[in-house]
Amino acid sequence: MNKFLGYRCSLCGREYLPGQVDYLCPTDGGNLDVALDYAALRQKYQPEDLLSRDENSLWRYLPLLPVGDPGGEGTPLRAAGGTPVYRLDRLAAPLGLKHVWLKDESRNPTASFKDRASAVVVARAREIRAEVVVTASTGNAGAALAGMAAAVGQQAIIFAPKTAPPAKVAQLLVYGARVILVDGTYDDAFDLTVRAAEAFGWYCRNTGYNPFTAEGKKTAAFEIWEWWRQEHHDWHKPGSPLDDHRPLTIFVSVGDGNIISGLHKGFKDLLALGWIHRLPRLIGVQAEGSAAIATAFHAGGEKIVPVSAQTIADSISVDLPRDGVRAVRAARETGGTYIQVSDDEILRAIAALGPLGVFAEPAGAAAYAGLARAAAQGLVAPEDPIVVLNTGSGLKDVRAAMQAVQPAPVIEPTLEALKKIL
Ligand SMILES: *Cc1c(COP(=O)(O)O)cnc(C)c1O
Ligand SMILES: [Zn+2]
Repeated sequence: MNKFLGYRCSLCGREYLPGQVDYLCPTDGGNLDVALDYAALRQKYQPEDLLSRDENSLWRYLPLLPVGDPGGEGTPLRAAGGTPVYRLDRLAAPLGLKHVWLKDESRNPTASFKDRASAVVVARAREIRAEVVVTASTGNAGAALAGMAAAVGQQAIIFAPKTAPPAKVAQLLVYGARVILVDGTYDDAFDLTVRAAEAFGWYCRNTGYNPFTAEGKKTAAFEIWEWWRQEHHDWHKPGSPLDDHRPLTIFVSVGDGNIISGLHKGFKDLLALGWIHRLPRLIGVQAEGSAAIATAFHAGGEKIVPVSAQTIADSISVDLPRDGVRAVRAARETGGTYIQVSDDEILRAIAALGPLGVFAEPAGAAAYAGLARAAAQGLVAPEDPIVVLNTGSGLKDVRAAMQAVQPAPVIEPTLEALKKIL
């Protein structure tokens, strides 16, 4: 069965066949949605066909992805996705909420959500026999591409701003990618990557540019759906604590807007297959200093006006979001919204999640900061079931983590000294 039909432009609706275009719509530069043959998929599969597969990673959902099996058994490529969901009871109660969970994407092989996109792009690269895959990155997309490519011996080149956190740059180098630091912003690195890919015939993974990144990211929606089915199959049963028919609400941090677009696509796939009957509410969280998409959303349109981004959350620090229009729609078409949080709120969120055993980088903690704000503003109700995504590990940015906590005291190695500070 050929499930991958081609692409559909998110702006003009033009359709393209698989070999006809690679990245954006040639007519208007719009992001391309991957078109799947839902009729054929619906005929061939029931949810149980996927849920009974014993692969506990995003490859569990291979039948719904526009790529063939990439191989790589027994390597980190096969381990992307399949991340755990934790209850956040001790944080929910003070916010006046009853049902809050966190899906911990820091548990991916390279410790961020980006592994989902990079795994599927590497699968595509193998399919089209690309010799080199290249990406621009603030760090995580590059680390994910470097790690997933390394897993199967694929060549990767990463362009990152020279200001990327050192842990992320170290990760790129250790995975053996060719790393080029750009004396400029992420946006400068992005444009250079696009030009270099054209000039040298490299396959470009750039976020909000390559249509396969959102296809990888949508697998988080599938996992949330599956978790929801298994944990809460009695959701609508009278007497269940969760029986008031409130939609699941998902909080996710937003930079380029590709994760929230990918989640939206995943849930739209499930809706098209008839496997869900309504879309969860998607709430995007942006840093105040990097809020082009939130601003467009609240202006009521789809026009994305670039900003000069400034935030401690480097992974969501973006001047011109590359997937802004679809990101605006993800919230608008699901009854969601956009929330902005300050760097202080982000640091407080890191400190709040830590004591629950979750170590988030600033961009990851931003989603929880958004929930705290939403609760304070009454945007979520006590009974709402809520999932917060932690998109990246705190180990990625130790400098920021140290700003979220009090430094540890240094003492003489004596009991007297210890007593003095206790
Ligand atoms: C990339 C990233 C995001 C934002 O994803 P976009 O697709 O750019 O919106 C959020 N958190 C972390 C940790 C990331 O690496
Ligand atoms: Zn178009």
